[in-house]
Amino acid sequence: AVQDYDVVVIGAGGAGFAAAMEAKKAGASVVLLEKMPSIGGNTLISGAEMNAANNWVQETKGIKDSKESHYQDTLKGGDNVGNPAMVRVLTDNATNAAEWLKDEIKVEFLSDHLFQFGGHSVPRALIPKGHTGAEVVTKLKAKADQMQIPVKTETKAEELLKNDEGRVVGVKAKTAAGQEITFNAKKGVVIATGGFGSNVEMRKKYNPILDESYMSTDTPGTTGDGIVMGEKIGAAITNMESIQTYPICNPKTGVISLVADTRFDGAILVNQSGKRFVEELERRDVISKAILAQEGKYAYQVWNQAVGDIGKTVDVHKDEYDMLVKEGMLIKADTLEEAAKHFNIPVTDLQKTIDRVNGFVKNGKDVDFNHRGKLIEMKEGPWYIEKAVPSVHHTMGGLVIDPETHVLDNNGKTIAGLYAAGEVTGVVHGKNRLGGNAISDIFVFGRIAGQNVAAQK
Ligand code: ADP
Repeated sequence: AVQDYDVVVIGAGGAGFAAAMEAKKAGASVVLLEKMPSIGGNTLISGAEMNAANNWVQETKGIKDSKESHYQDTLKGGDNVGNPAMVRVLTDNATNAAEWLKDEIKVEFLSDHLFQFGGHSVPRALIPKGHTGAEVVTKLKAKADQMQIPVKTETKAEELLKNDEGRVVGVKAKTAAGQEITFNAKKGVVIATGGFGSNVEMRKKYNPILDESYMSTDTPGTTGDGIVMGEKIGAAITNMESIQTYPICNPKTGVISLVADTRFDGAILVNQSGKRFVEELERRDVISKAILAQEGKYAYQVWNQAVGDIGKTVDVHKDEYDMLVKEGMLIKADTLEEAAKHFNIPVTDLQKTIDRVNGFVKNGKDVDFNHRGKLIEMKEGPWYIEKAVPSVHHTMGGLVIDPETHVLDNNGKTIAGLYAAGEVTGVVHGKNRLGGNAISDIFVFGRIAGQNVAAQK
């Protein structure tokens, strides 16, 4: 079968939806292809917090920030390997993209709370209602329906089609039922297929350390298809060895722990001996490495009710909380002693650690690890202790794009008719993506891709 559109977008995560909507808004006919039975990709299961300097919540809370500071943090957070021009586009346009989500897509963000993810100078991450991508993806889907953008699930893109002049003019896809469909794209194709964290073979090919001994936080569809399809028709790829583990994940399943977002509100990390070993707001790669250097290659995150009450993560992630408790990976207890006993942590040493942190709160300085955020005095129970391990989370490498989201070939030339945005691209985050920057990335560059592809003749 053959179907004709102006624009074909591959992958119904955040980047794909943003591209499809902008292209449609500009007057193009658009189809969105998704290989899985359900939409949303990693965008759906993420916390979906979004960094945006000078956002409206910062304004209300009187937090001073600047696009320049977001730019500097992002570049530095990736060891200055990210492309500066791309990081500039990201940080200059993140707030616009956040306002677009709020005003046009009707995504609800918390009006009074922000996260300061590791590596950021100030709290600048907007938090969607429910602290997950469900709020974002639900609203994107509703808007796409309203705009009459067809979203074809169980339709896997398998090959990019070029014409004689080398222009990308369509996509060959296969449905779950086995039907082959050629989607012609008069104006162009946008690749928004996400990363490759769930593809163990591909991980090992580019970074052998991250083999099957690591679990992944990612959805099963995160297998690098767009990178492979692009490479096949001459697209350049880069930075493939840069694969990020998220430090605080469920030791049984590898699933990211959002209950443990108390870390951004003052929870501390300790090892089996009850001792701190890393700054809790360090970069994800640094914390992951530090955890793997501890006895047993795991860590415990410790907080009390006072810290828990700030972000209420136990309430907003009730299902995850119940699961962790059932699996014995999280304990809530009235006394620290009882909580520590569950994991065989020596309570006197743990109490010493907490007393020391409480001292830092009083003196205003963490002389051990120089915590850059706000540590909170933890005196009273109930206490929470959660066991955690690092798990593969984000692949920073991928297709080479320019600031207009054109996919480039190995000579640095644009491949006509081909655009890409989101985790499938490899030039924004350098060696390490900072928390809250993926959502900014997918919406900033997804929108640019949609606008530019629709503007093609
Ligand atoms: P991003 O954050 O960059 O938008 P996501 O992981 O949220 O990435 O979304 C990518 C989506 O692309 C997922 O829903 C995934 O299932 C889908 N996808 C991956 N490969 C293909 C493919 N070959 N054809 C269609 N959809 C794909």
